[in-house]
Amino acid sequence: DIEVAIKVVVVGNGAVGKSSMIQRYCKGIFTKDYKKTIGVDFLERQIQVHDEDVRLMLWDTAGQEEFDAITKAYYRGAQACVLVFSTVDRDSFEAIPNWKEKVVSEVGELPTVLVQNKIDLLDDSCIKNEEAEALAKKLKLRFYRTSVKEDLNVTEVFRYLAEKYLQR
Ligand code: GDP
Ligand code: MG
Repeated sequence: DIEVAIKVVVVGNGAVGKSSMIQRYCKGIFTKDYKKTIGVDFLERQIQVHDEDVRLMLWDTAGQEEFDAITKAYYRGAQACVLVFSTVDRDSFEAIPNWKEKVVSEVGELPTVLVQNKIDLLDDSCIKNEEAEALAKKLKLRFYRTSVKEDLNVTEVFRYLAEKYLQR
């Protein structure tokens, strides 16, 4: 059996829930005060897609995104990308085109998905549904709304990326 391994980078402003999403997907847990485990670059999970074993390696940052200081090593060899913003953080939404540019300039075009996280906080939303959908359309990206907290749609995001990667 030939195994497919995919390096996935998860990018977006600080505090949108990237580390929580990786933890949720790979370990099945959610904590309110997650801190990156020192020395670990990525967590992984194996799934089956159309009878193929796919190993997803989800790369986390240690918070460098807040200082615009993500190293090239983080992006190097990336094969898929999750762009994340938060329902309750307008700046994180407006920063998405910049994040996409950054990834494309480092590794070129690759299977990418747009994610609006913290959908459990919709009552306090700073982004209209139409705006988020318009952005996804403009950037030509599949769009998912997730709640890492409530475990909504997280597995769907990564399954879509794996399928998209295998289709290339
Ligand atoms: P990162 O900086 O993008 O890695 O974000 P973190 O994963 O550290 O999450 C920042 C904060 O948002 C933490 O307190 C998380 O518990 C919280 N958080 C993450 N996802 C969700 C979610 O879906 N809903 C809610 N309400 N909080 C979340
Ligand atoms: Mg983090």
